[in-house]
Amino acid sequence: MSTPTPATSPGASRSSVRSTVHGYPRIGPDRELKRASESYWRGATTARELDAVAADLRRGVYAQLREAGIDDIPSNTFSYYDHVLDTAVLFDLVPSRFAPPAAAGDRDEELRRYFALARGDQGAPPLEMTKWFDTNYHYLVPELSPSTRPRLVGDKPVAEFREAAAAGFPTRPVLLGPLTFLLLSKAADEAPGGWEPLQLLDQLLDAYAQLLGDLRAAGATEVQLDEPILATDEGRAAVGHLERVYQRLGSLTERPSLLVSTYFGSVGAAALRVLKDSPVEAVGLDLVTDDEGVDDLVKVSGLGGTRLVAGVVDGRNVWRADVPAAVAGLGTLLALADELTVSTSCSLLHVPLDLDAETSLAPELHGSLAFARQKAEEVALLARVLSEGVEAEYADRNGGARGPAFTDARVRARLDALGPGAYERPQERGLPTDTPLTTTTIGSFPQTSELRRARAAYRRGELAEDAYEGMLREEIDRVVALQEEIGLDVLVHGEPERNDMVQYFAERLEGYATTENGWVQSYGSRCVRPPILFGDVSRPGPMTVEWTAYAQSRTDRPVKGMLTGPVTMLAWSFVRTDQPLGETARQVGLALRDEVADLERAGIRHVQVDEAALRELLPLREERRGEYLDWAVSAFRLATSGVSPSTVIHTHMCYSEFGLIVGGIDALDADVTSVEAARSRMELVRDLGGRGRGRGIGPGVYDIHSPRVPPVEEIEGALRLMVAHVDAGNLWVNPDCGLKTRGYAEVEQALRNMVEAARRVRADLPGA
Ligand code: GLN
Ligand code: ZN
Repeated sequence: MSTPTPATSPGASRSSVRSTVHGYPRIGPDRELKRASESYWRGATTARELDAVAADLRRGVYAQLREAGIDDIPSNTFSYYDHVLDTAVLFDLVPSRFAPPAAAGDRDEELRRYFALARGDQGAPPLEMTKWFDTNYHYLVPELSPSTRPRLVGDKPVAEFREAAAAGFPTRPVLLGPLTFLLLSKAADEAPGGWEPLQLLDQLLDAYAQLLGDLRAAGATEVQLDEPILATDEGRAAVGHLERVYQRLGSLTERPSLLVSTYFGSVGAAALRVLKDSPVEAVGLDLVTDDEGVDDLVKVSGLGGTRLVAGVVDGRNVWRADVPAAVAGLGTLLALADELTVSTSCSLLHVPLDLDAETSLAPELHGSLAFARQKAEEVALLARVLSEGVEAEYADRNGGARGPAFTDARVRARLDALGPGAYERPQERGLPTDTPLTTTTIGSFPQTSELRRARAAYRRGELAEDAYEGMLREEIDRVVALQEEIGLDVLVHGEPERNDMVQYFAERLEGYATTENGWVQSYGSRCVRPPILFGDVSRPGPMTVEWTAYAQSRTDRPVKGMLTGPVTMLAWSFVRTDQPLGETARQVGLALRDEVADLERAGIRHVQVDEAALRELLPLREERRGEYLDWAVSAFRLATSGVSPSTVIHTHMCYSEFGLIVGGIDALDADVTSVEAARSRMELVRDLGGRGRGRGIGPGVYDIHSPRVPPVEEIEGALRLMVAHVDAGNLWVNPDCGLKTRGYAEVEQALRNMVEAARRVRADLPGA
């Protein structure tokens, strides 16, 4: 037996390993920011009161990070609404439909203008909102044009730095990097064709230079510039600009040290080499999302004297770190950089604040989770282990261990036993409908405040199950009767029993847990509580059959069943990482397959499986997209291929930028695909409607995101254009998404207009 070599602490030779995080949740332990901003918007509180809440929240964050043991605390990670918007306002990159910057000291006007950009104002529609990379956080898209003049007009980063310093917290201000900012912005409608925001780069760099000088003067020693765009193909292709940006900012004489942070994936050796060779002092890399970050470091022969900020703790999922594995990985990194800081893979904005606020999770699950506060502690622990070698503290912190509660042999056996036939529907299936321009809706009807109140009371145990369910049946009666009276062809039950299209199913599936307090910011004051998919998924019993069958019993017209698809169930949850996503998606697909079969058995002839997030989960890099679409498509097909050829499978997607996934949508093999189509409707109709007879396409004929009621003539005009391009038998007529956020008054009128428009166009079809 060989004598074990004495354990040398990996960091024995080095005392300089530090800890930091890229950012932290802003909303507060009890969603204080949501409440404070909503009350300010209602006019119930003043700007001063809102500012006071925000200042408390910021102080709370700094204190929490210090308590967790974080050495280098970030600031300017707070935002009243969104950090991209903050950046646009800071540099006066605001479209001319909004007021000019407020006079100095007019805080009310300053906030009014800021929130107008986010939420709109009489006459001025807000900036467009879109998803931040492949997360469920939304940012506001700056609109730039050749007449935009970037200039530093605000002082938020400086003010928050000073505020923190005064409270005893020296911090590292975080800014959105200029390259990412410009590549995420769009050319305003009035910009000439071919003009792009990057043309403002030099002017914007002048403004950044001025800000860096101001921060230095205020005493900041280091500033973080976030460049997550480098994880995308577009960002990787912009290395020339990257070089220009950091040569320029790095060569300023009066400036703080610069940390260029990247996240949401590796950046490639070319970008890394540019950063290494530029005068910036530190580079942050995401070493969690994929395996290529370390390869890149090897390709550039390490970072040399540039400090490596190693994102080794997953900033966007909720699992505890596997500390021994992370220590081993960091050991390798020590050979690739002279200076090392341990960090999260991205801002902790994307996870809930504190696991300690969860009191009812099963102990085994609770023990394998870490929220933001726990992740900060993990980062601090890792830095301490590397610097001081305190193995005893982490020996048991193996986050990767999964107990028997997480696996279900029956699910695995069932999946293994499936042959290829389980993923195929017969090609001969008849037509989904005999009427051209069949009218339908996307699923939900307005969720009245009465319904919401009843559900809350039922959940608190204050309303008996019988009474609650009686209410739901009455609601379904009303919704079915209304649809018949309006004259819709394929009806829905209206989804009155659902709070949310993912949570509803998560609560009814094994392998899923929901949290009490696990709020994450989605946009502005809107927060969501993503469920946690921790183990093998199975369906203990029917989830929707009772309600759909009840609706069907009230009408002779077909009622369409409504389910949430596997990709969307994953995209809006925190998902286990101990097996490939595709495997988890298949388990969800199998559970849904059972539900679809039960719906069919209950006499339901149309089933819609919503894949609202199919586009969102698309990998940022093209080379990974094929594999993603393969598993996404198989999981959907597993869910939907068990039915008879005469059952009509629908799917729905909430966006219209299909360019990248048209092939995937086609491969889903749904009989009818409904999509949001407010903008590029005709392209869509051609792309999706021309796939042969029997492949239905339902381009949303009106925008449900606005309360506006579309006149009959407008819908009629759109339909006439469409029938000129595709077989009317393939065209379905529907709104562009569910109606749950609207009121009955507008929904009734809009649907009546839609049905009338379809009737008029049908009447003029050849042979009608
Ligand atoms: N069936 C869902 C609804 O109508 C679809 C929602 C969505 O696509 N986001 O509400
Ligand atoms: Zn939708």
